[in-house]
Amino acid sequence: MIGVTILGSTGSIGVSTLDVMSRHRDRFRPVALTANTNAGGLLEQCLKWRPQYAVLAAADAAGPLRDGLRRAAPEVQVLTGADGLQEVAACAETDYVMAAIVGAAGLLPTLAAARSGKRVLLANKEALVMSGQLFMDAVRENNACLLPVDSEHNALFQCMPPASVPGDGDDSLQQRGVTRILLTASGGPFRTTPVQELREVTAAQACAHPNWDMGRKISVDSATMMNKGLEVIEACWLFATGTDNVEVVIHPESIIHSLVEYADGSVLAQLGNPDMRTPISHALAWPQRLEAGVEKLNLFDIAQLNFEKPDPQRFPCLGLARRAFAAGGTGTTLLNAANEVAVDEFLQGRIRFTDIAGVVAQTLDEVDIGPADTLELILEADRQARRQAQAQCRRLA
Ligand code: NAD
Ligand code: MG
Repeated sequence: MIGVTILGSTGSIGVSTLDVMSRHRDRFRPVALTANTNAGGLLEQCLKWRPQYAVLAAADAAGPLRDGLRRAAPEVQVLTGADGLQEVAACAETDYVMAAIVGAAGLLPTLAAARSGKRVLLANKEALVMSGQLFMDAVRENNACLLPVDSEHNALFQCMPPASVPGDGDDSLQQRGVTRILLTASGGPFRTTPVQELREVTAAQACAHPNWDMGRKISVDSATMMNKGLEVIEACWLFATGTDNVEVVIHPESIIHSLVEYADGSVLAQLGNPDMRTPISHALAWPQRLEAGVEKLNLFDIAQLNFEKPDPQRFPCLGLARRAFAAGGTGTTLLNAANEVAVDEFLQGRIRFTDIAGVVAQTLDEVDIGPADTLELILEADRQARRQAQAQCRRLA
């Protein structure tokens, strides 16, 4: 039995992970389930799954979880706070960690999993964006097994030359015959909205993704295409390459999840219905395959696949992400932090959709970029960028 800890079990990825695990109860057992503030949702999952640990990040909201478990499942141990998350990510009972907390809050427990040499199923791209070098070093130094769950990166991993496990080996992509990575993007809900109307779009409209059902933060990121910017950076770290080798292709049907181009002219793609249970199941089972409950692809129904170049005016966040990565050091830490603040402010109705890119750009302009060699430097850059972005949002509100 493989012991699985799910960081962020009450979220979209967490729930899909439990759905895949429910189909293979003979292989996987939950060691820990975790949530931020949703004590009720976590209690319900714990009563069904009986993990060893339940972790609620918000300690002051844990009362109902403790009471409910004491009555109905006293064997489940309750932990709280960032320490609790790190403890279950690193504990001996845990073999695999699904890193599915949204945002920078996921960094410390995901890093703890890497430092403990676990198999890390990485959905939380923000952790890698804010600390790429440090995180990849932790994977290498501790023989962790890092497998991408983000659908595009999971697709790339499936199309890469054999034995291209992220962080493993020093050969560059070029040495292995790969000439380019083609990262597909749906274009989100505003792909065809007139650019001058983007000023007025609401949070509800931004969260209504045409193809994927996801958490609110990543949904807004998909609408601005900052998500694709974060994913370009994620791809560079996972596959040890530069942004020049990563091209973004808008593909509105979300059937091709990404492609790898080789020196001999071959282009390998991974296709499937847009359902996160496919990459989750792939990362859980790798190198084997497991049934994931995903509807089979019907090419006759799909009939057509379309491709477009992203318009830099409509999607300025894509260029900001490339700029931040090119700056090196804490550049992408600042990018991520400013974006998290701006997206949150937009979701609260305090700034406009079109302000998000401006807040990120100004943070990159005004906060000094420094080395990102230690966790302390990264966390300090994250705090500075948040302060700066908050101040700008107050001025805009
Ligand atoms: P979500 O908002 O649905 O769920 C987030 C989870 O993280 C919840 O369980 C929540 O309780 C927990 N969480 C939030 N803040 C926390 C904090 N401060 N401390 C501890 N726990 C906290 O998000 P999601 O859509 O499941 O996305 C999760 C991650 O996976 C994100 O990084 C996202 O970019 C990535 N991802 C998601 C999808 C998708 O289809 N949903 C696809 C690719 C990548
Ligand atoms: Mg993705």
